[in-house]
Amino acid sequence: MSGLGHLAAGFAAKPAAPQIPLWVYLVASETNDLLYFVFTAVGLEKPVATTMNFTEGIRYLEPVLNPWSHGLFMSAVWAGLAGALAWLIYRDRRVGLILGLVVFSHWIFDFLMHSNLPLFFAGSPQVGLGLENTGLGFLAITIFDLVVLAAGITIYFRARNRNALQHS
Ligand SMILES: [Zn+2]
Repeated sequence: MSGLGHLAAGFAAKPAAPQIPLWVYLVASETNDLLYFVFTAVGLEKPVATTMNFTEGIRYLEPVLNPWSHGLFMSAVWAGLAGALAWLIYRDRRVGLILGLVVFSHWIFDFLMHSNLPLFFAGSPQVGLGLENTGLGFLAITIFDLVVLAAGITIYFRARNRNALQHS
């Protein structure tokens, strides 16, 4: 789970492979969290229980283990599957690569924020810089999220305006 920064990757990727609709990129950037909702609904993963305040950041009430939605290994698998699917649909390796990278970017952002992302499955080491675990870190990652999101949206609209000029 995490913030709005994820969407930045979707906005920024759109000009690089414009064949894919923007909404697909935005959904792709949140793949891990969407899988988390699906997997907790079917009982494969446990819902995460947290408290949050601005002095302590986020505290986990129970140990978190979400290897299917947020493990490094499975994240690479989901990214690979998304990339392969895009490649099959668009018959373009570059499009597949870019969509795969957008899916995987979720894990990179989560790595900054969390400290409990499993490398593989149950029992494997959990990693992450854990910025969310202190008040200051949580503030920093929130600002970072907003800045990155603004940058992503800027890249998207610059490219759109450039295209509009070229086609007018
Ligand atoms: Zn997440």
